[in-house]
Amino acid sequence: MSLALLQGTSPVRAHPFLPWPQQGEPEEKNLLDLLRTGSWGGYSPKVEEFGQAFAEVHRAKYGICCSNGTVALEVALRALKIGCGDEVIVPSISFVATAASVLLCHGCPVFVDVDPQTCTLLPEAVESAISPRTRAVIPVHFGGHPADMDAIGRIAAKHRIAIVEDAAHAHGAMWRDVPVGSLGTAAAFSFQAFKLVTAGEGGIVLTNSSSMAETIWSYCNQGRRKGMGWYEHFTLGTNYRMTGFQAAVLCAQLERLPAQIRKRTENVDYFRERLRSFHGISIPDDDPRVSRHPHYLVTMHYDSSHFAGLRRNLVIQALQAEGIPVLPTYPFPLYRTPLFINGQLPPCRCGTWRFGQRYESLRLEHAEWICENGMWLEQNVFLGNRNDIDDVLTAFEKVQRFSSALLDFQRSSQSHRA
Ligand SMILES: *Cc1c(COP(=O)(O)O)cnc(C)c1O
Repeated sequence: MSLALLQGTSPVRAHPFLPWPQQGEPEEKNLLDLLRTGSWGGYSPKVEEFGQAFAEVHRAKYGICCSNGTVALEVALRALKIGCGDEVIVPSISFVATAASVLLCHGCPVFVDVDPQTCTLLPEAVESAISPRTRAVIPVHFGGHPADMDAIGRIAAKHRIAIVEDAAHAHGAMWRDVPVGSLGTAAAFSFQAFKLVTAGEGGIVLTNSSSMAETIWSYCNQGRRKGMGWYEHFTLGTNYRMTGFQAAVLCAQLERLPAQIRKRTENVDYFRERLRSFHGISIPDDDPRVSRHPHYLVTMHYDSSHFAGLRRNLVIQALQAEGIPVLPTYPFPLYRTPLFINGQLPPCRCGTWRFGQRYESLRLEHAEWICENGMWLEQNVFLGNRNDIDDVLTAFEKVQRFSSALLDFQRSSQSHRA
């Protein structure tokens, strides 16, 4: 037996893991029914139906559907009147949308460090980032693990700032038995192709505030107001509507979520158990206050000392060659993406951006560490059975056994480059 990466021999895993998204008869039926109603647009009753169903699952009063998760964050911030010079605290480990939504409102994102175990906002870092200009904080429930909403709630109340949950990874997650999406002032979810509930694209804002719900609905619907005339536009809005087709698929996808979460939880528990006796790749413990974790991403920590000092990315390459779709975490914390370091931004609406941080010189310890030492498995790997998890472990063990062969390979490819 030898490594697939080095010898091109047969990998541990020759067949793929379950695909994502899962789909079948319910999606087909809903789509066809919708098609036949002839009501295809954003005013299809299906959109309202899905919005309410999704809000109910997350115990929020209102659900306003929109075209994607980025827009959901943006309209939530707009409804909070975030504008020029306002600071919004965001985690350094997230997708660009978390910070871009702030910039799209001409606010200034303030990046803070994350907890190295959960990749969610570090409460003490949030507290020390508060300034007189701070208006809101965006906790990301990273990979499905809710942020510490007790501490963030306390800090937000003390400093009178709003909380906009970025729940793009966390459909169905619960913190102390309360679903995410109802833990702050508003929450944004994404239904993009790889998210836990998906129609290819789509988003929603949840809130318990009727006035926020009205404002957000109006922004997404060209400034219209519910119950008023089609040509009466009360505010400057745009068209951010979700279509009936998306809602039809989403209604069926939402039904699948509870069973999928149970399945993934079972498999992640088993994976965690098996990893206890393996050294070099580990999964950090969840916060005990997390009562339901949908496992969008399973983040693992790599320790090169158990792999003969190999670079993480070479181990990942070797695992991928063995048929395991493991991925490196983000290549760098969000503040180091070119948007922030190359002055790519157009001028702020009021002339100049009033950033409270110099992004190009930021180096936040835990965020940098995770980008160097973390790896991910995505949710579909955990939708199958124990054999799938066993294959992952077999590949870990195999690559580890061949560490020294890989090290020779690493050395020779480095000397080639030199
Ligand atoms: C996917 C994602 C979004 C944005 O969602 P889109 O629907 O792709 O616009 C926002 N935040 C995070 C953390 C995400 O992963």
